[in-house]
Amino acid sequence: MTAYIALGSNQGDRELNLLRGVAELGKLPRTRVTALSAFYETEPVGGIPQADFYNAVAQINTELSPLHLLDELQRIESGIFKRTKDLHWGPRPMDLDILFYNDAVITGERLTIPHPRLHERRFVLQPLAEIAPDLVHPLLHKSVAQLLATLTSSERVEKL
Ligand code: AMP
Repeated sequence: MTAYIALGSNQGDRELNLLRGVAELGKLPRTRVTALSAFYETEPVGGIPQADFYNAVAQINTELSPLHLLDELQRIESGIFKRTKDLHWGPRPMDLDILFYNDAVITGERLTIPHPRLHERRFVLQPLAEIAPDLVHPLLHKSVAQLLATLTSSERVEKL
């Protein structure tokens, strides 16, 4: 299975956190990292004043099920990066989201795939377009490049 993982960090050493996050993805059972975008510095969205994020997107090849993959990502977030659940959309050393899992469409209590907000986020679409411009969103039926081209939000997203 091919999945796309969004990585974000705005606490601590953000570049080191992204590097560590990618390394942890590569250590997951039956999983390999098969592509990685550049790192971007991005303006936070959601209204809470906080430090800029570093963001990237990784493509992985995995035999883990979507829920098992989510378990592993949450274990990395809380175990490795000691994330505490305080402010929703607040500062975090590491945030890991599943963007796509093959062309699966999942609407569950713990998991929504494709990620419900990916198509409105420049900080996701820009790095994703680097490694998967022709990937088609299974619900919107548009490619990542098309979604990026029609995006209206103007958050600052700077390639490092
Ligand atoms: P956040 O605080 O933004 O990291 O949100 C984490 C919550 O989102 C967790 O409770 C997950 O169960 C849920 N969630 C739903 N869909 C996804 C997804 N595609 N990737 C990661 N987390 C998800």
